[in-house]
Amino acid sequence: HAHIDHATPEKVQAAIAAGDTHAHIPDYEALAAYRADGGYAALEQLRSSGDWEQVQEAVLSSGLRGLGGAGFPSGKKWGFVRANAGPRYLAVNGDEGEPGTFKDRFYLERQPHLFLEGMLIAAWAVEAQTCFIYMRDEYPAVLSILRREIKALEDAGLVDKGYIDLRRGAGAYICGEESAMIESIEGKRGIPRHRPPFVAQVGIFDRPTLVHNVETLLWVARICREGPEVLSSTEKNGRKGLRSFSVSGRVKRPGVHLLPAGSTMQDIIEACGGMAEGHSFKAYQPGGPSAGLLPASMADIPMDFDVLQEHGTFIGSAAIVVLSDKDSARAAALNMLRFFEDESCGQCTPCRVGCEKAVKLMQADTWDQPLLEDLCTAMADASICGLGQAAPNPIRLTIKHFADEI
Ligand code: SF4
Repeated sequence: HAHIDHATPEKVQAAIAAGDTHAHIPDYEALAAYRADGGYAALEQLRSSGDWEQVQEAVLSSGLRGLGGAGFPSGKKWGFVRANAGPRYLAVNGDEGEPGTFKDRFYLERQPHLFLEGMLIAAWAVEAQTCFIYMRDEYPAVLSILRREIKALEDAGLVDKGYIDLRRGAGAYICGEESAMIESIEGKRGIPRHRPPFVAQVGIFDRPTLVHNVETLLWVARICREGPEVLSSTEKNGRKGLRSFSVSGRVKRPGVHLLPAGSTMQDIIEACGGMAEGHSFKAYQPGGPSAGLLPASMADIPMDFDVLQEHGTFIGSAAIVVLSDKDSARAAALNMLRFFEDESCGQCTPCRVGCEKAVKLMQADTWDQPLLEDLCTAMADASICGLGQAAPNPIRLTIKHFADEI
C-alpha cells in the first residue's frame, strides 16, 4: 500500500486509480512498532498485579480533566462508576462533531495504540465488560486503522475477541452528547436523556458506564507509561498541564498545537506562525460554536476552564477558530445558530423552536436585543441538554462584544 500521509483528495484518487485500495490510510504506528517501544507493558503489568486506586491517584495528581468538553476530573469518574455494581461498560466518545475540532483524528491517525492502551487501562480500572468505541463515520481512515489494529490486538491475545466493539456514528452532532451517544449505541435514535440518573450509574443497557473522550484516554496511557509529571510538570500563568488546541481560520499554520493549558490566544497565534498574510486579528471562537466569539482585545486571558467561564464562555474541546478584519462576527454568530438549528434533536421546545426563532431574529437588519435576550434566557434555562443551553452564547457574546455590527 502506498501510505500517503495527510492525503489530499487528488493524491488519493491518483493512488486508487493505480490500484491501491488503502490509499486513504496515512502512515501510523502499528502494533509491532508500539510494542517495540514498550507499548502495552503498563497494561500487562497492571492486569497482573496493579492496584486501580494507585492508577486513579496518578491520574488525579496529573490534573487530567475530560477533554471532550466538560472538563470533569478524569480519575473521579472511575470512582463514580465503580461505586455501582457490575456488569459495567466503557464507552469512548469519538464522535468529534464540534465544528473546528480535529485533535482526536490527528492522534488516531498517528498513534492509535496509545489511545487503545489508555482505553484498556481505564476498562481494567472499572472492570468493564465491553468497550464500545463510538467513532465518527466521517473519519474513514481512522475506522480502517482501528479495525485493523483491534484485530491485531485480538490476534496478539491482548484482548478477547469482541471485547472492543467499534461502532460508527451517522453524522448527527447531538450523538456527541454522552447520553445521546449511549442511546445510539443501544440502537435507538440518538436523543439526550434527562439526568439524573447519570451515565456512571445508568448508562449503556442501564448498566454503569464510564465515558471518556479519545484524547483523555491517550493521556491515561501516557500517565501510566511516563508518570503524572507528563502533564503536571508544565505550568503557565498559574495553570498546570497541556492542551491540544485544534486551530483553524486566518492563521499561517492551522492544525493541532499541543501547548501549555495556561496559554493565551496570543500564544496560540504565535504557535501558528502568526496571522495569515493580509489579515489582522479581530476575534476568536475559544471552544466550538457553543462558546461563541470573543474579541481580539481579550487575547491575553489564559484559555482555561475557569477563566473562560468567568467571561460567559468555555474552552470545550479547544476548537479555536481565528477571525480577521475580513470576517463579520455577526455573520459568524448567525452561522453558529444555523448549525444549532440544523443539529437540534427536536426533543424539547426551547431548543427546537428557540434556535429557529433566533436565526430569524438574527437575520434582521438590526437585532431586536430585548427579544433576543428573553429568548436566550428561555433557551439556557429550559433546554434539556448542553446544545440548547449553550446555543445562546454566540448571541449574548456578539451583543456584548460586537455591538457595532448588530
Ligand atoms: Fe434536543 Fe436541543 Fe433539547 Fe438537547 S436541548 S434535548 S438537542 S432539543
